[in-house]
Amino acid sequence: MSKKKSNYTMIIPGEHVAFIEEFESGKNTFVLDGSIRSLGLGIKECDFKKRQVTIERKKQANFPQIGDIIIGYIEMLFGSMISIRILYLNNKKFDSGLSAIASTRIVSESGGWNHRRDRGERRVKFVYRVGDIVRGRIFSLLNSSAHATISDKDLGIVYCICYICGGDTVKLNNTVKCIECGMMEEKKLASDFGKEILLALEKPR
Ligand SMILES: [Zn+2]
Repeated sequence: MSKKKSNYTMIIPGEHVAFIEEFESGKNTFVLDGSIRSLGLGIKECDFKKRQVTIERKKQANFPQIGDIIIGYIEMLFGSMISIRILYLNNKKFDSGLSAIASTRIVSESGGWNHRRDRGERRVKFVYRVGDIVRGRIFSLLNSSAHATISDKDLGIVYCICYICGGDTVKLNNTVKCIECGMMEEKKLASDFGKEILLALEKPR
């Protein structure tokens, strides 16, 4: 017979779970002024044999975790930041309406993606537009927000339509070119840029 008892209410970080007179502080808990509190979001478990209370961290299925790959569209641009509305999490449809934020100040070991100096040493700035489809990787969940990076080679814009005529585009090195009107724009593109990525995601499997 199990000596453990759980109640299935979600405990939030900092919440009181027991007094030190009742239990010992176990995994994912800390003690503050005689009160045992939770260190994370999870389910309270009381082990009556060990007289210990622990918090079993709950995996939030609908919240991205560090290392997850997101694909979404740029919904907002603010300064050097973009907000990405997540459409796919690890290549699976994701519809919880969450967004991730990413910096467009991109630094890579090879000296930076954000700016490329052309022959005249003029700085060329990558362009971001609302609606661009971006792939990012979650690297931080600070302050309950999902922070993504788009700086790796396989990250960045995976597809966009022409902002002038709405036409289809193709990738030429760091440039997007509209096949309808010839518009060209420098962007931080993912190495596998192309609408095939989106078509593959939509395929039933
Ligand atoms: Zn065009």
